Amino acid sequence: MYLEKLFGLSGKVALVTGGGQGIGQVVAQGLAQAGAKVVIMNRANVEDTVSLIKSAGGTAMGVQADVTSEKQVDAALQKVLEAYGTIDIVVNNAGICMHQSTLEMTPEDFRRVLDVNLTGTFIVARAAGRIMIGRGIRGNIVNMASMSGSIVNIPQWQCSYNASKAAVIHLTKSLAMEWVDQGIRVNSISPGYIATPMSTDNPAEMNDAFIKLIPMRRMGDARELVPTILAMVSDASGYTTGSDFIVDGGYTCL
Ligand code: NDP
Repeated sequence: MYLEKLFGLSGKVALVTGGGQGIGQVVAQGLAQAGAKVVIMNRANVEDTVSLIKSAGGTAMGVQADVTSEKQVDAALQKVLEAYGTIDIVVNNAGICMHQSTLEMTPEDFRRVLDVNLTGTFIVARAAGRIMIGRGIRGNIVNMASMSGSIVNIPQWQCSYNASKAAVIHLTKSLAMEWVDQGIRVNSISPGYIATPMSTDNPAEMNDAFIKLIPMRRMGDARELVPTILAMVSDASGYTTGSDFIVDGGYTCL
């Protein structure tokens, strides 16, 4: 009973960006299981996750928005307020990765990755922060960083992604400090390799090379991120803000 109260999200409204597939879809289902009303924000394909949650007895809605568009994000959050009246939790999960050597990467490609992963996180966090602060909501934001924010993946080159995730970790700390007096907690999670469309699109030899370097000798399952995220967005971690939680099968110990 005590733990249910600490980790439970009953009565809360939780927004998950990039919740249409992969990690975001699994996290959205986990938040719904903990009792939250869940909002899926994606550029397209919001309905699959909404149906999964509803068919398991949960409550969910979808809003279409590109996280890089301030206008689309504001309009989407307005729809959430009209439907559910509040926004308590944001999981800033939408992200993209480009595998290119730095010599081949164009500034446009570099900017695109930074735009989605970093500026998109800022745009959604700012929009939600304005709502939370304006309405006195002691909310929670979790930003999806990556172990790539503190290590360099080999053998694939992805300087834009690595730089964007390092910046997400520090953006998280910055927002945590700016909003600490308003009772808004902001943390990040840094997964290692998780088997999702983003990682499994890689050639098999590349995934084999990754797995050799993971102390646990396997990729993670997105479900293995859910308990950490539930702890971060619930009262269970009431004294935690500005932290980055690494969930990587031991990779960053090396
Ligand atoms: P996927 O590619 O499987 O899913 C990414 C999701 O983000 C999709 O639903 C996509 O939907 C959405 N998205 C992408 N761009 C935008 C945008 N501009 N606006 C709104 N939504 C967008 O990735 P993963 O599930 O693997 O990754 C999720 C997060 O976890 C990312 O931030 C990633 O960097 C991070 N991560 C992943 C790891 C892994 O090994 N998989 C490891 C560490 C971190 P759509 O294109 O339809 O909008």
